[in-house]
Parts: sequence; C-alpha cells; structure tokens
Amino acid sequence: MKVNCKAEIVKIEKLKEDLYKFSIQAEEIVSCAKPGQFIDVRVVDGIEPLLRRPISIYNLDKENGILEFIFQVKGKGTSLLAQRKVGEKLDIIGPLGYGTFSIKDYKNVAIIGGGIGMFPLYELAKELKEKTTSNVHIYMGFRNKDLVTLEEEFKNVSDELTITTDDGSYGISGFAINELKKDCEKEVPDKIFACGPLPMLKAVQAFAAQNNIPCEISLEEKMACGLGVCLGCAVKTAKSPSDAPEYWHVCKAGPVFNATDVEI
Ligand SMILES: Cc1cc2nc3c(=O)[nH]c(=O)nc-3n(C[C@H](O)[C@H](O)[C@H](O)COP(=O)(O)OP(=O)(O)OC[C@H]3O[C@@H](n4cnc5c(N)ncnc54)[C@H](O)[C@@H]3O)c2cc1C
Repeated sequence: MKVNCKAEIVKIEKLKEDLYKFSIQAEEIVSCAKPGQFIDVRVVDGIEPLLRRPISIYNLDKENGILEFIFQVKGKGTSLLAQRKVGEKLDIIGPLGYGTFSIKDYKNVAIIGGGIGMFPLYELAKELKEKTTSNVHIYMGFRNKDLVTLEEEFKNVSDELTITTDDGSYGISGFAINELKKDCEKEVPDKIFACGPLPMLKAVQAFAAQNNIPCEISLEEKMACGLGVCLGCAVKTAKSPSDAPEYWHVCKAGPVFNATDVEI
C-alpha cells in the first residue's frame, strides 16, 4: 500500500562530489516496501518544481523504520534536494512500483549493476543474504576509479564481489558483463538481476536469453509523475506485434521486469 507522508531527514552523507545518501524516518513505507521499489520525492515544499523525482530505495532498516536512498545530482530537482538539511521533512510517496525483485532460494545468483543503477541492488542483495540460502556474486561496473562507490557495503551483502572500471583505473579493466560471461564458462547462475545504464541492460538481457538464464531487470526510465497518470515512462512489451505494439508503464508495471517481457 502506498503512503504519502512527511518523512524527517535524520542523516545526510555526501558520498562523492555529486552523490548524496539520505536517511529518512518513514516507518509506514519501510514496513511494507520490497527490494526494487522506489519513492517519489517532492524536492522542495514550494510549487516549483511541481513534479516529484523518482528515487530507488537503497536500504530498509526495518527495526528503526529508516529508509535510505542515494541520488546523483543531475539537474534542477536533484540540486535542490541536495540542499535539504537534517531535521527537515521530505514529502514522499511510496513504496512505488508493482514489479519487484524476486527473493527466494537460488543456487547461484549474479547481480550486475552500473553507476546509479547499483543503488536498488543493495536491498536486493541484503535480503537474498538474510532470507535465502542463495550464493550471491555481485558485479559492479563503473567508468573509472573516482566513481567507484559503496564497495564495502556491497562486499558485506555478497559472497563475492567483482568491480570493473571501463578505463582499468580500479578493479578489473573492462565491462562488468564481460566478467559475468567469463565466470559463466565455469558455472552458470540460475538467476541474474540487473540495473544500470541501457547498453549494459541490453547486453545482460541478450546474454541471459542466449543462455536461458532467468533474469530480472530494473528500468529507470524517465518518468514525470511516478503514479501511472502521465504515461511518460512507456516501455514496449517484447511479445506484442510490431504493427500493434503494446506498452507497459515502468512506474506502475515495473520498475522490475522479467528480461524476456520487455523490449529495451
Ligand atoms: C524508478 C526510478 C528510480 C531511480 N532511482 C534513482 C536513484 O536511486 N538514484 C539516482 O540518482 N537517480 C535515480 N533515478 C533517476 C532520477 O529520478 C533522475 O536523475 C532525476 O529525476 C533527475 O531530476 P533532476 O530534476 O535533477 O534533473 P532534470 O532537470 O529532470 O534532468 C537533468 C538531467 O538528468 C537526466 N535524467 C532525468 N531523468 C533521468 C532518469 N530517470 N535516468 C537518467 N537520467 C535522467 C535528464 O535527461 C537530464 O540530462 C531513478 C529514476 C527512476 C525512474
């Protein structure tokens, strides 16, 4: 059930020059949120900007009712959000999203993410480790060393962590998907989860399809309302005929989809 509430900001951490982690007190949302869901944030109390900004849930501290999210400053909305202070109240709606990551026992799980797409994968990995017997291998891809973030946090919720940078300045040189492919020559995972930039998601989707590996991807499509009203975040369904395409809306049907169900 989604809730509209004023959540107090209890902690702010600046992780990088343009990257912030907010911890907010939001018991009602935390109690029912699932990995892969997001919240819609009003970045200011005034009128402008009117539209809320969608941000993924990074961590749910169920015991203390605290929800954490991490965002990168991109434009006006996120710049204003970065100026908010501890003690202020944020107007948020959540948890949003119907499609969530499936938490159950797997043998070997591969979780692959890149850039800001890493954030919703943390709660997923954490719950897989806490609630299931799955062996979890996380692959994190970044453009360069300066952008590598949350290494320790992801190490703590995985059995193995592989970090790649495009320019080789940290971890293994190259794309994270290449490391996943190499590891699959030894042992094929029975599940893949992915969130990240579109080229990465397309590569993961194709690889999973070729190898018949069940795969869930989270799409962070641009969206205006986050509530299924504006219809701005449409994604084409994979099996619809090309002369009569059918669409889902990421905010309502997603953001997590079976990779075989969507054309990205
Ligand atoms: C379901 C969902 C979950 C998300 N989770 C996170 C998260 O955990 N952390 C995070 O940092 N961001 C996340 N985003 C992206 C975030 O919503 C946008 O970066 C933000 O809305 C931009 O707002 P703005 O006003 O700062 O920028 P705008 O002024 O609206 O745009 C500035 C720039 O950001 C780009 N932009 C706008 N929306 C997106 C988008 N969805 N993806 C990529 N680029 C975008 C624009 O093209 C433009 O170049 C998520 C988006 C979705 C749909």
